[in-house]
Amino acid sequence: MASEASNESNDSLDFIREIVQGDLASGKHNHIITRFPPEPNGYLHIGHAKSICLNFGVAQENQGTCHLRFDDTNPTREDTEYVDSIKEDVRWLGFDWKENQFFASDYFEKLYAFAQDLIRAGKAFVCDLSAEDFMRTRGTPTRAGEESPNRDRSVEENLDLFARMRAGEFEDGSKTLRAKIDMASPNIHMRDPALYRIRRVHHHRTGDAWPIYPMYDFAHCLSDAIEGITHSLCTLEFEVHRPLYDWILENVNLPRPLPRQIEFARLNLGYTVMSKRKLLQLVQEKNVSGWDDPRMPTISGLRRRGVTAESVRHFCKRIGITKYDGLTDIAVLEHSIRDDLNKRALRVMGVLKPLKVVIENLPEDHYEELEAINNPENPGAGTRILPFTREIYIEQEDFMEDAPKKFFRLKPEGEVRLRYAYILKCEKVVKDEAGNVVEIRATVDQDSKSGGATAGRKVKGTIHWVSAQHAVNAEVRLYERLFTVEEPDADKDKKDYKEFLNPESLSVLKDCKLEPSLKNASKDERYQFERVGYFCLDSKDSTPDQIIFNRTISLKAPWKPK
Ligand code: ATP
Ligand code: MG
Repeated sequence: MASEASNESNDSLDFIREIVQGDLASGKHNHIITRFPPEPNGYLHIGHAKSICLNFGVAQENQGTCHLRFDDTNPTREDTEYVDSIKEDVRWLGFDWKENQFFASDYFEKLYAFAQDLIRAGKAFVCDLSAEDFMRTRGTPTRAGEESPNRDRSVEENLDLFARMRAGEFEDGSKTLRAKIDMASPNIHMRDPALYRIRRVHHHRTGDAWPIYPMYDFAHCLSDAIEGITHSLCTLEFEVHRPLYDWILENVNLPRPLPRQIEFARLNLGYTVMSKRKLLQLVQEKNVSGWDDPRMPTISGLRRRGVTAESVRHFCKRIGITKYDGLTDIAVLEHSIRDDLNKRALRVMGVLKPLKVVIENLPEDHYEELEAINNPENPGAGTRILPFTREIYIEQEDFMEDAPKKFFRLKPEGEVRLRYAYILKCEKVVKDEAGNVVEIRATVDQDSKSGGATAGRKVKGTIHWVSAQHAVNAEVRLYERLFTVEEPDADKDKKDYKEFLNPESLSVLKDCKLEPSLKNASKDERYQFERVGYFCLDSKDSTPDQIIFNRTISLKAPWKPK
């Protein structure tokens, strides 16, 4: 499978990769087929990325195939907008399903035929119980359920009723098709589970053709079998469904070997929520600007924020595949992001909260070109020119009037090194009527630039700056964690996760001054504003007339990994 992600090999084998290799070695399979089966009812998030990297990764590493299957059996919440976004996100992550794009809804006819087979074998029946009675008679983990009064209907009657369910003769919820297994099973999923329900609703692909829809447990295993999936990898909550997965496949006529379901721990990430229902709620209630809001844990949000596909894949590899549920520290993701951006980002200077400095010992028309290194991590990235003039901007927070002893940036009478340029000395502080510092009058040591007589003179701090005359104006959006606590949805009963939304998760700075090379910034490029963080152009809102940068991440971890 040729794709961008294919040369990132896995050094050690997790338990799933061991099983797969074992099945190849034993000859059980000679071609591995996995699948990524999203339900098109929302945008993909970083948890899905874990599943994508696993399914496509296992296939790639074993010269196998990975299918993209839309699990669209629940029509009311699904939409083609989601189908398109899912494809875009999987591709962006670097994976290619080639011709293997499928929809579970394409199998509706086949699934119906499998259901008829179960009825003919006396292993499924049409049940008249309402949803409430179904739940009531199901029993509890410690008490067996009661058999449905319709459990012993004849095959002929069941076939006839099932056909009439399909023909749309019955009300929503008035009948179900149920498997006939064991109402006393200790596993509640084996107590005559529903296989089909009546829902006379429109489906985004099959239209009004079907008034009945298969349940997930019925559709999923059979879709796997229809596609010849060898290893069906899913998250741990499906472990208790596995006996049903196997029961259905064993009780219809299918070629051997059957697909094997294997469960792994889902990704839970600190300071965020991952349920699609909750992410949809944040979008609908406008707590965020959309699914691709850069604060969202969605793939489109991460992408818009400037996170690269490489760092997402690296993160997924780092967290590995296990059988134990846990909470992954967001610092692990941030580490992968910084690591990757450090290697690729072009270094530039940008002042977010500008303070003007007038250098009094330079003439009004002073113009000088200084050379700056584009990326110390990558000498091939070359150098660029920075114009230096009498008026420059520095960061407001790099000046302090009543500075403590350890403040090594600019203070009255103090000196600081301007990055790539001179040593600057603060001569005078200009204030407005309210007493706010509005300008600094300063001088430079004219011999202190690289190659000059006092170039080696040591001052403690170095700060970034931008020529006032040449600065590019920009808006900069800074992001913080979307939630204020590590597990916003831990307290399911008492507190709503939305109570933990961070009101300071977005700050918009409108009056930023950037070095002139950023006039031609590219949406594909990543930048490190020296000392300030990693940035990218906002792919949606930035225009040549209104340049908008997102801060992907700050330079240093604001909190330490546990
Ligand atoms: P919902 O939130 O609606 O229950 P879901 O998150 O399970 O849905 P699906 O579209 O069913 O979404 O997921 C597609 C695949 O991604 C499934 O195989 C699922 O197991 C996997 N997946 C979903 N969330 C995670 C996660 N947090 N970590 C790892 N895999 C995940
Ligand atoms: Mg799901």
